[in-house]
Amino acid sequence: MPMTGSRIKVRLPDVDIPLIVPISMHRFTEYFKGFEKVAAVREIFGEETDQVLAELKVEFFSSKFGYMGVSDEDGHLIVSAYYLRDGDPSSKYLDVVHELVHVRQFREGKPLFDEAYEYHERPTELEAYHQAVKEARRLGMSDSEIYEYLRVDWMTDDEVRKLARNLGVTPPKQPHTERVR
Ligand SMILES: [Zn+2]
Repeated sequence: MPMTGSRIKVRLPDVDIPLIVPISMHRFTEYFKGFEKVAAVREIFGEETDQVLAELKVEFFSSKFGYMGVSDEDGHLIVSAYYLRDGDPSSKYLDVVHELVHVRQFREGKPLFDEAYEYHERPTELEAYHQAVKEARRLGMSDSEIYEYLRVDWMTDDEVRKLARNLGVTPPKQPHTERVR
């Protein structure tokens, strides 16, 4: 999921996100600590928060491509070991919040990858981004910082602007030029 090009400095909640991980399946709580105490996460799962996180599995993979996702087969979290090592801390944190929304959606029986919609307009994505953006605002990130967070290499600038508008994030006045990463 999203990865920013710039380094954004914000004070994150007291959570641990691993840097170096084995390429295998684990309990989420073995590697991602403290998320059950995060208000944004409790908002996602409500009273089921502790139980869902205790049951959640995380699979680390070693491809340089991709960041984080949720399996639409069994709802487990999938995370790139490269992204954990090299990604921006606030982006990784917000991505976990985003993906946990997908975990809930899977549990609710919603299709995670509904091909009837483009990525930037898919209702499940908008809901996940909405929660991440709300958390980014709570952390004190500005609209331009959030916009940077939204920019990812699988969306065109035009799509990112549409997504941002749908999320109530004000795009910068000057369109960004395409970047290669
Ligand atoms: Zn998503």
